[in-house]
Amino acid sequence: MTTGMTEGMTAAGPEDGPLLEIENLTKHFHSKGGAGSVQAVNGVSLRLERGETLGIVGESGCGKSTLARLILRLIDPTAGAVRFAGQDLLALPHADLRGRRRDMQLIFQDPYASLDPRLTVGAIVGEPLAIHGIGSRKERRGRVAELLATVGLDADAMTRYPHEFSGGQRQRIGIARAIALEPKLIIADEPVSALDVSIQSQILELLLDLKTRLALSYIFISHDLAVVEYVSDRVAVMYLGRIVETTDTESLYRRPAHPYTEALISAVPQPDPERDRSRIVLTGDIPNPESPPSGCPFHPRCPKVLDACPHELPALKDIGDEAHPHLVACHLH
Ligand code: SF4
Repeated sequence: MTTGMTEGMTAAGPEDGPLLEIENLTKHFHSKGGAGSVQAVNGVSLRLERGETLGIVGESGCGKSTLARLILRLIDPTAGAVRFAGQDLLALPHADLRGRRRDMQLIFQDPYASLDPRLTVGAIVGEPLAIHGIGSRKERRGRVAELLATVGLDADAMTRYPHEFSGGQRQRIGIARAIALEPKLIIADEPVSALDVSIQSQILELLLDLKTRLALSYIFISHDLAVVEYVSDRVAVMYLGRIVETTDTESLYRRPAHPYTEALISAVPQPDPERDRSRIVLTGDIPNPESPPSGCPFHPRCPKVLDACPHELPALKDIGDEAHPHLVACHLH
């Protein structure tokens, strides 16, 4: 069974240029009282090359999950642009967007909550194929068995229900469903956070293996810097809805330039003594996005705050070179 692609073409469009470009993406929600607004995502620009994994890190509430939903156009932005394989997703009518969504799938943090408990695993994994009218019933059953094998589950899982599986197996079911339509991009939103550490590494290995086998690109969202380092080619650090630093993984973890990134990395347990650094303890919680601090939004927690910081919002500046761009938003640079 094919999923309807013509030879020489992919559903993602021409094979040149970045897979995804986000420009100045912004989302403000009305606050609960209705008077103010919550700036969940603020002027985010990013680019994802084909075959690349971009990690997005930050504390809970920094806007990373809203960013994922904006990219998939599950919610509409207040401003900005999202181009997938050169096509402006925000200009697409909803009917065309449905076709385009086949190329972009989401893997959730809590596989149990995202799997309908009343459906068998066969129905869950086969649902995207049925929705898009792909294959006959029999062909779909064969494809589901194939997908389950791809994620390391036996075909007899098809007739069972999600509650009969462990957390790791449920995440495998979620992944099988996500790859059913042969997507080009997978956005994994905290995909291993709910799992035991031993199971986390199995799921990460599976995701890395699928990336090569199925020519996938990932946006990998997590609060866990060790996990993001393990899977990512490049990393973007978010704070209060903005990107504060982005570069290749090695540069970010060896030479973090933003005090927030430094603090996050200093908290990661470090087996490599060369990279051992003393822990920087951040005081206070992430501020309320309804009333973000003036100037640099990190200034109330920053151990290196300068006089200008409460007054001027630092712009993203490239402190890298042509081969290794390194963008950072901080008055220290
Ligand atoms: Fe700290 Fe100032 Fe840099 Fe913000 S701009 S991270 S407050 S030094």
